[in-house]
Amino acid sequence: MHLSPRHPRYRSLVTRARLAEWSQKGLVVPEGLIAHGRGEAFDYLLGERTTPSARKATRVAAQWLRAARRPVLSVNGNVAALAAPEIARLQHALPSLGVEVNLFHRTPRRAALVARTLHGAGVRTVLGIRPTAKIPGLPSDRAFVDRRGIFVADVCLIPLEDGDRTEALRALGKRVISVDLNPLSRTSEHADLPIVDELVRALHNLSVDLEMRHGTPVPGRFAPFNAPAALRTARATIRYRLQREAAPRSRRAPPRR
Ligand code: ATP
Ligand code: MG
Repeated sequence: MHLSPRHPRYRSLVTRARLAEWSQKGLVVPEGLIAHGRGEAFDYLLGERTTPSARKATRVAAQWLRAARRPVLSVNGNVAALAAPEIARLQHALPSLGVEVNLFHRTPRRAALVARTLHGAGVRTVLGIRPTAKIPGLPSDRAFVDRRGIFVADVCLIPLEDGDRTEALRALGKRVISVDLNPLSRTSEHADLPIVDELVRALHNLSVDLEMRHGTPVPGRFAPFNAPAALRTARATIRYRLQREAAPRSRRAPPRR
């Protein structure tokens, strides 16, 4: 399919085409395509850019990842399809970062495909291809993890995650950093540090921050973060944008930067 770069939704169309291709190869499942649509809707409402509040959250997340004894990034099909090069850059910036395949709809073939996609982009080690441990309190496939990865992690970075799994990780005492465009999802609600931003933008910013190596991290010492305030700000951004669009044209406030 030919897509014109002049189309106002060019980027979104390119991403959709890429996900559709990956779904034919089996990396992305139909449920993943639907989840992407939900994410896109919230990105639209948030202005399709990184908000100052999300940028601040990402900076704190970089501090947490550097202060972690065992930081692990959880990767599902959508995350691998959308952001494999960003994950490679992230691991390069933070060599202690474990990268683990974590699939809601797990088959050995899909797990291998996620790993191959990550390796192809330059990710060195991929955990969780064959799970070796289970998170208590979750049914079937969704509970499987790697004994060297999420199972022993102190900080988990979980983009595009499901609410139940987020809660289960929290219950195990892990610090959870989420990346989810929906500031109302259970994942955002339960994360210690919710980043309400688009996956590729958030991981890019995280790499930039990690590459700066601000200060010497003290293992186990984490900067404070006010998660409820961050979510309130994201919801207020949506409300502000909708109110502005709902006002008669003559009375509209200029866009807020
Ligand atoms: P929850 O179970 O946490 O209440 P949910 O059921 O809405 O949330 P899932 O489908 O389980 O969510 O997970 C997908 C989540 O990821 C959605 O909330 C969606 O907004 C978000 N999402 C999808 N694509 C992206 C993306 N590219 N960047 C950031 N977030 C995204
Ligand atoms: Mg869910």
